Amino acid sequence: MDRRIMGLETEFGIVHTVPTGAALSPDDTARRLFRPIVEWGRSSNVFLPNGARLYLDVGSHPEYATAECATLEDTVAHDRAGELIVDDMRGQLEAKLAEEGTGGSVYLFKNNVDSAGNSFGSHENYMIARSTRFARLVAHLIPFLVTRQLIAGAGRVHPQGPVAFGQRSFSQNAGQPSYSFSQRADHIWEDSSSSTTRARPLINTRDEPHGDAERFRRLHVIVGDSTMSTTTTALRLGATDLMLRMIEAGNALIDRTLKDPALALRQISHDLTGTVPVELADGTQRSALDLQREYLETVTRFVQANGAHHDRVDWVLDLWARTLDAVQRRDFTGIDTEIDWAIKKKLLDSWVARNGSDYAAPRVAQMDLAFHDVAPGRGLFRMLEERGMAARLPGTDGSEAQTAVTTPPETRAKLRGALVKAAIDAGKHTTIDWVNVKINGATQRIVTLRDPFLTHDDDAAAMLAILRREAVRGSEQPPAPPII
Ligand code: ATP
Ligand code: MG
Ligand code: MG
Repeated sequence: MDRRIMGLETEFGIVHTVPTGAALSPDDTARRLFRPIVEWGRSSNVFLPNGARLYLDVGSHPEYATAECATLEDTVAHDRAGELIVDDMRGQLEAKLAEEGTGGSVYLFKNNVDSAGNSFGSHENYMIARSTRFARLVAHLIPFLVTRQLIAGAGRVHPQGPVAFGQRSFSQNAGQPSYSFSQRADHIWEDSSSSTTRARPLINTRDEPHGDAERFRRLHVIVGDSTMSTTTTALRLGATDLMLRMIEAGNALIDRTLKDPALALRQISHDLTGTVPVELADGTQRSALDLQREYLETVTRFVQANGAHHDRVDWVLDLWARTLDAVQRRDFTGIDTEIDWAIKKKLLDSWVARNGSDYAAPRVAQMDLAFHDVAPGRGLFRMLEERGMAARLPGTDGSEAQTAVTTPPETRAKLRGALVKAAIDAGKHTTIDWVNVKINGATQRIVTLRDPFLTHDDDAAAMLAILRREAVRGSEQPPAPPII
């Protein structure tokens, strides 16, 4: 496969605050947030005309799963489109609460931990060939993912220092206010398994390909932090895709199996020098910087030998190298507009310096959270980006995300999106998953899209034609979805 199907799922934290009186609980706020969606789509689990899935599972975290994309740019744009969509819902809820007299502010955070210490995720999905030796791929990928936080972490303040891991205190910073590379690292408990909640793994091995199971498999990476910056998101996905390509090509790679990946994640996250030694299964020790340097070198050689498979490969390799250099030199100025943890750290450090304070200050924890607020004009990351203090993916200006709110990527999502839209126009109810689109009603019709790359399908075209005819015949315009 030259191109790869990718998708990003984001769970958002939600909070309602009021100046006086009782605020809504996160559960109630999330339910209220979805009320217009439920009224429109009869469900809190809907697919949108841009091909994405928007849903509220058990619990209180609204989730946006991007449509399946085939390029880095599209995945990044569709991820940001999800922020725009949920922010629109947030604005509507705030207005409704004001009208009802409840008032207050509704916040949506694209982060991975709430104030009660619960973690929620950012899932990366990469399509791989069924013929790929999965166990080998996972084994090689895990040490990469454990150390990837150096280049793709979202950063987190710990006012009381790192929390011990089981019985172990694993960091020299214990008890001291500190900053870590990753939000999610402290919440992962094992390397790979089919569980997503109890013993949360780095890779979820549940075999749900969302496509032709004989040809494809979906790699479901759940260790990553949600990333705000389009450059960090692109590096996270772009570097991982390159690693996958190299593993898929069957290159002989050095075995870097870690003795305890969950412990190594924490050790690495809480050491901003990147030099803390972590134990390998073979009894030797390596630092995150060593391992990441090795991965970067092998990937670079692989690209030199095989050519670049898209036109941002050089950019990915350059930012990857500059980030490792910055960690090594302990001077983050070269990446503090491009890599989430460094962008946020710069912001916090300048406040701390101006106020003669430290990371234990409540204001620092507030800023840490406000960085992830998705509301433009309020969220700190979004403000930095507006002011040019956080970079955008080169060649993009934010308009791509706006377009992605209503326009599906060039994959089967294009067919799904068109069918969703046509069904809305025809006033038909649908039952949809990533593979199937079913039009409900007396004469049930179903279209099955097993190949995520295909942008044409005869059955889909036929169904579209029928729906469009029915839309023309129908006199009353059905309500449009409340968010687009
Ligand atoms: P959970 O929320 O429990 O983790 P999940 O991962 O099965 O469930 P979704 O939240 O529906 O499901 O998200 C699926 C993601 O997988 C989407 O981002 C979608 O774009 C992506 N995707 C769809 N088809 C494929 C495929 N064939 N290969 C890789 N990714 C895919
Ligand atoms: Mg999901
Ligand atoms: Mg998932």
